[in-house]
Amino acid sequence: MTDYPHLLRPLDLGFTTLPNRVIMGSMHTGLEDGSGPLDRLAAFFAERARGGVGLMVTGGYSPNEDGMFYPGACKLSTTEEALRHHTVTEAVHDAGGRIAVQLLHAGRYSDHPGAVSASALQAPIKRYRPRSLTDQDIRTTISDFARSAALAREAGYDGIEIMGNEGYLINQFLAPRTNHRTDDWGGTAENRRRLAVEIVRSCREAVGHDFIIIYRLSMLELVEDGQTWDEVVALAKEVEAAGATIMNTGIGWHEARVPTIVTSVPRAAFTAVTAKLRQHVGIPVVASNRINMPQVAEELLARGDADLVSMARPLLADPEWLAKAAAGRADEINTCIACNQACLDHTFTRTAASCLVNPRAGRETTLRLDPVRRVKRVAVVGAGPAGLSCAVSLAERGHEVELFEAADTIGGQFDIASRIPGKEEFAETIRYYRRRIESTGVTLHLNTRATADTLAAAGFDEVVVATGVVPRVPHIPGIDHPSVVSYVDVVRHGAPVGDRVAVIGAGGIGVDVSEFLTHNTSPTLDPQAWRAEWGIDIDAEDLRGGLVEPKPEPSPRQVYLLQRKTSRIGKDLGKTTGWVHRAVLRAKGVEQITGVSYERIDDAGMHISYGPGRERPQVLAVDTVVICAGQEPLRDLVDGLTERGITTHVIGGADVAAELDAKRAIEQGTRLAASI
Ligand code: FAD
Ligand code: NAP
Ligand code: SF4
Repeated sequence: MTDYPHLLRPLDLGFTTLPNRVIMGSMHTGLEDGSGPLDRLAAFFAERARGGVGLMVTGGYSPNEDGMFYPGACKLSTTEEALRHHTVTEAVHDAGGRIAVQLLHAGRYSDHPGAVSASALQAPIKRYRPRSLTDQDIRTTISDFARSAALAREAGYDGIEIMGNEGYLINQFLAPRTNHRTDDWGGTAENRRRLAVEIVRSCREAVGHDFIIIYRLSMLELVEDGQTWDEVVALAKEVEAAGATIMNTGIGWHEARVPTIVTSVPRAAFTAVTAKLRQHVGIPVVASNRINMPQVAEELLARGDADLVSMARPLLADPEWLAKAAAGRADEINTCIACNQACLDHTFTRTAASCLVNPRAGRETTLRLDPVRRVKRVAVVGAGPAGLSCAVSLAERGHEVELFEAADTIGGQFDIASRIPGKEEFAETIRYYRRRIESTGVTLHLNTRATADTLAAAGFDEVVVATGVVPRVPHIPGIDHPSVVSYVDVVRHGAPVGDRVAVIGAGGIGVDVSEFLTHNTSPTLDPQAWRAEWGIDIDAEDLRGGLVEPKPEPSPRQVYLLQRKTSRIGKDLGKTTGWVHRAVLRAKGVEQITGVSYERIDDAGMHISYGPGRERPQVLAVDTVVICAGQEPLRDLVDGLTERGITTHVIGGADVAAELDAKRAIEQGTRLAASI
C-alpha cells in the first residue's frame, strides 16, 4: 500500500516503460558548458537516477551555433560533442535511470550578436537585435535539430526533449508577437506552427520509432500577442501526429511580467490548463510549475489533470525525492522552496547552479559527507539555518552532536521569513530539519541559552558557534518612542501596527515586511485568487497569451518604505525574483522614498528630509515605525570559548552579518561539517 498510487504507477510507452510518473525537468546547471569532461554532470544525474526518478532531461543543448545561449555555451551538433556525453548516459544507465537531452534553440534570447529569430524584433530582456532567418536558414535549422536528435541517440540518450516554450526560437515562430513574417513560416497560425511541426517530424525520422521525443508545448504564454487557446490545441495535435511521444507543458515566456515559478506562486497553480489540454491529445501529457511535494503530484494525477509531473528544482533540492515518497518517508523530503537563489539566479549570472537547501547539488564529487574515522562530541550553538545544516551533517557523518537553541523552536531568522506572505514554503525547510534532527540522532536542547561556562563544563571536543544575528538599532533621535518596533516584534511576536506605517530600511527584510504589512490576513495560496491578482485568465479561449486586467487586493494600510541610499529600492534582490517583489510593492501602493535622512521620531510621526541635498523636510504622520535596518553578528560566546582553549568554529551570521542569507548560512554549515 502507498499514499501515492498514481505517482508510483509505471507508464508503458510501447517500446519502453517508465517506472513512475516523475520526470526531472530540464535545468541548465552550468556543468554542461565548455569542452572538458562531463564527470560532474554525470555524478549529478547518477545521484538522481539512484533516487528513482522515472526519466530525466538535461539542460538545453543548442542544435547549432546560432541558437547557443552565449559564446561557449553548450551545443550538440558534432560527433565529437556527442562522444563526451557517454560519461553521462552510462552513469545514468548504470544507476538504473533514463535520460533525455533537451534541444533548445534560444533564438532572440541568445546573448550574442549572431542571434536569429522569426523576425528582426529585439526581446525586451536582451541586448541584441536578432537577424530574421531566411527560408533556407529555417530549413537548415530543421535539419540541425534532426542531426542533434540522431547524435543524442548515438550518445546513448533514451530520448530528446524539443524546447517549444518559454519564448525561445520555436515559440518565437508560434506567436504573432514575434513572428511578423509574410512567407510560408508566418501569417496564418498554420504557417506559424510549421517550424515546430517540421522539427518534430524530422527528428522522428532521424531517430526511429523506439526513442522518446518529448515536445515542450507553450501552453499559456502570459505575454501580449501570444497564441490563442485554439492555436495551442491545434499545435498539440499536429505535434502528436508528427511523432511526439510525450507532451510536456510550459507556462510563460522569460519576458512575461507574471511570475510562474517563484515561491509566492501557489503550488500547482497551472495544472488546470494542462487538464484542458489533455482532453485534446492521445499521448501522455506532463504538468509542471510549482509541483514540489508528493501529495500535490498525487492529487493532480488522481484528478486526471495530467499523466506525468515534471519537477526540476525539487530534484536539485532532494535527489532522493522519489525514493522517500515511495518508502512512505515524504516527511523527510528536503523540499524546494522555490527561492531561485542558488539555481536560476546562478544560471542567469553564469555561475554553476546549486541549491540553497542542498548545497551538495551540482557539487556531488567535491562536497561529500563521508563517514568519520574518529567520532567527536560536538556542540552546535544556535538552530538557525547555519547551525541546523551543520548539526545534521555532522551527525550524518557519525559525530555525536548536541544542538543548543535559546528559543522554543528551531529555524532562527528563517522561521521569521516563513511568516511572510508568499514565503510559506520556508516552513518546509524547518520541518525537514526537525525530522532530520530526529533521524540522525542529534540531541536538541530548546529554550537553552548556551554559555562558555556550560559548554566548557560539558567537555565537548569542539564547539560550533552559529548564534546568528541581532537586528541593528539605528541612532535616530526618538528611536525609543513607543511607536517604534522591530521587524521581529511585528512578524514573530504579532506586535500591533497602525494604519500608517514607516519602514526604516529597504533591504530584503524591509521589502518582505512591507509585503507582510500590505497583505490582508489570509495569504493568497488559492490558485484561482492568485491568478486574479496577477491578471491571468485560463478559460478565455480567444485571448492571446491569457492576460487580463490584474485585480490586486487593496492594502489594509499605507506603508512608506525608506532608505538612505539613492539607488532603486529592491535593486539587490534576486535576479529572477526581485522584479516580482517590486511589482507587489507597486500593486499595494507602497510609497518608496530614497535618499532619506532620518531626523527624529515623535508623537507627530517620522521626520525625514530627502531630495538631492536632503533639503526637503517632511513629516510622515505615521502611527508605527518598523525598524529593518540590517543586522549585527552575535558572537558573544567566541572569546569565552577560545580563552578556555576550546576548538571553536564560527559560521553563518555570527561569522559575517553583512549580506548574509540562508544560502550562505546553509552552505557554510555543511562545508564545516564535511571538514570536522
Ligand atoms: P539565525 O537565523 O539568526 O539563527 C541563530 C540562532 O541562534 C537563533 O535561533 C538564536 O535564537 C540562536 N542563539 C543565539 N544565541 C544563542 C545561544 N547563546 N544559545 C543558544 N542559541 C542561541 N534568507 C534567504 O536566503 N532568503 C530569503 O528569502 C530570506 N528572507 C528572509 C526574510 C525575513 C523576514 C528574515 C528575517 C530573514 C530572511 N532571510 C532570508 C535571512 C535568513 O533567514 C538568515 O540569513 C539566516 O537565518 C541566518 O542564519 P544563521 O543560522 O546564521 O542565524
Ligand atoms: P540589508 O539587505 O543589509 O538591508 C538593510 C537596510 O537597512 C538597507 O536598506 C540599509 O539601507 C538600511 N540601513 C543599514 N544601516 C542603517 C542604519 N544605521 N540606519 C538606518 N538604516 C540603515 O539587510 P536586511 O534587509 O536586514 O536583510 C538581511 C539579509 O537577509 C540580507 O542580506 C538578505 O540577503 C537576506 N534576505 C534575503 C531576501 C531574499 O529575498 N533573497 C529577503 C529577505 C532577507 P540604507 O543604508 O541605504 O538606508
Ligand atoms: Fe529550489 Fe531554492 Fe534550491 Fe532552487 S535554490 S532548487 S529554488 S530550494
